[in-house]
Amino acid sequence: LSSSITILGSGPAGSAAALAALREGAPVQLIDRSSFPRHKVCGEFLSPEIELDLTSLGVWDAFLAARPARIERMKLVFGHREKSGRLRQPAWGLSRYAFDSLLRDAALAAGAQPGAEAVAPPEIIATGRSSAETRRGQRLFGFKAHFEGPQDRAVELFFFRPCYVGLNSVESGRTNVCGLAPEDWLRRFEFDFDAALRSSPALAERVAPLTRATRWFSTGPLEFRQRFSADAHQYVAGDALSFVDPFTGSGLSAAIHSGSLAGTAAARRLPVEEYNDVCRAALRTPFEVSSVLRAAICAGCADWLAELIPARALFALTRPR
Ligand SMILES: Cc1cc2nc3c(=O)[nH]c(=O)nc-3n(C[C@H](O)[C@H](O)[C@H](O)COP(=O)(O)OP(=O)(O)OC[C@H]3O[C@@H](n4cnc5c(N)ncnc54)[C@H](O)[C@@H]3O)c2cc1C
Repeated sequence: LSSSITILGSGPAGSAAALAALREGAPVQLIDRSSFPRHKVCGEFLSPEIELDLTSLGVWDAFLAARPARIERMKLVFGHREKSGRLRQPAWGLSRYAFDSLLRDAALAAGAQPGAEAVAPPEIIATGRSSAETRRGQRLFGFKAHFEGPQDRAVELFFFRPCYVGLNSVESGRTNVCGLAPEDWLRRFEFDFDAALRSSPALAERVAPLTRATRWFSTGPLEFRQRFSADAHQYVAGDALSFVDPFTGSGLSAAIHSGSLAGTAAARRLPVEEYNDVCRAALRTPFEVSSVLRAAICAGCADWLAELIPARALFALTRPR
């Protein structure tokens, strides 16, 4: 256990890996090319099951101290149709500015050594999703901004072909608005995201009482995929391992979960194949179900599918196990 574990990437997956490895008594190098805190394009919706992993990593109290917004309901809006339900357990809204920093700070306080470049070959790869090589025009981009104004305890998703936009409260009384759309469609609005939101009457009505408090941040192109490590010496975690369609709101809990598993596996020197098998079992169903739902969104029949499957079941099927 004496030699240091090098982790590339100190987003949620990398920091979770560091905390888990440190808990096992292994020294850790935590490498990132970005400086923190930093904004990140994300719906900032944290799925309820994240509590278990954050508790076992010893950061649940720090998470609550950041005063995340409590989210109790979900609402799906397709044109004029709505579907809503209570979440079985409360979810949370916290900005990535706060969430990523609190995890990274906890890892550094527990003894992780920060750095900007790896000196040894990294054992844990937590570098996030890779960019897509899809044809120009069809490439998907994500965008987000924080707004001020009336808040709600619901996570709301507005689907309007070929786009969707999610809203939920985060800390400090703000509401995060985050969407995903193909490049061609965004170009119609000259990448003016405010104008894009107004193109859906239901969404325009929802954001009307809100005032934008930050600039728009955007990211892309996005590609949804899973990549299990073929290298016997590298544990891949987080989006680098599995990036699912963000409307599931499960990416962060999957990143924390796989990061924790990777940190423990690396510290105990468990075979990478064993780690991959555990991750495959946890992540396969959410990936497959969200791929079907993405196809339904693209084909404009997400409302039809949502009519068939109860909202709670959809939510459960897209969670990592
Ligand atoms: C539009 C959009 C909305 C989303 N909404 C939600 C949501 O509401 N809820 C949810 O749970 N998930 C959501 N997600 C998914 C979520 O953002 C990811 O699952 C999460 O960021 C994964 O964390 P990670 O640590 O794997 O990667 P990241 O958060 O991307 O962190 C990777 C880190 O690695 C660093 N890095 C990369 N390459 C290198 C390198 N070569 N050397 C050093 N450092 C490197 C980067 O600087 C970064 O800090 C959304 C994603 C998108 C795109």
